Amino acid sequence: MSTTVPVVERVLSANDAVAAEVRARLDGLGIFCVNLMAGPGAGKTSLVERTVAALKDEIGIGMINGDTSAAAFDAERGQMAGAAAVHVNTGGKCHLEAAMVRDALAVLPLDRIRLLLIENVGNLVCPMSWKLGAHANVLVSSVTEGDDKPYKYPKMYAGVDVLVLNKIDLLPHVDFDRARFLRGVEALNPGLRSFELSCRTGEGLEAWLGWLREQARRGR
Ligand code: MG
Ligand code: ZN
Repeated sequence: MSTTVPVVERVLSANDAVAAEVRARLDGLGIFCVNLMAGPGAGKTSLVERTVAALKDEIGIGMINGDTSAAAFDAERGQMAGAAAVHVNTGGKCHLEAAMVRDALAVLPLDRIRLLLIENVGNLVCPMSWKLGAHANVLVSSVTEGDDKPYKYPKMYAGVDVLVLNKIDLLPHVDFDRARFLRGVEALNPGLRSFELSCRTGEGLEAWLGWLREQARRGR
């Protein structure tokens, strides 16, 4: 038992070193990179689609989509929307690792990309422990998941730089106590930058897009 923790720490610190390489590479190229994390079904791919459709004419966008299988549906959706997309099959792993991002960069047209959206594997537990070299770790939550999520997944909520609360058009139809949710978020991550929106109706998207635009511009 006593060797378990050091082994995990070594694996994570090796990953951190690759993440630092990835970050240096992105910085050198002037690419702003976002790591989108969420539970399955919160709307990561829908947010990517909306974002790409809205920004593709002003900013070159790349997408790396991590999935536990060879099914490339989500990367195809990103591609259809107008991003240069790469599907990464994690081979059953429940998170992306920095080396997977490094390898994906090798096949993306980086000279045409200013904004890189990474869609992590749908999982609220471990993706937070695996740094990818992204400039912003973004958690996508949705009102259909329930207002208890910050209380159940504190590490994720405490560790992210930005929170997106999706599906707000469904608020009248679900038992989601927004005040309780936001209290949980504030306790774990005071002052967290948050966007409440609906990928379905487009409500609230403009603020999210404005933030991304500003970050991508600053990255150059
Ligand atoms: Mg998806
Ligand atoms: Zn995992």
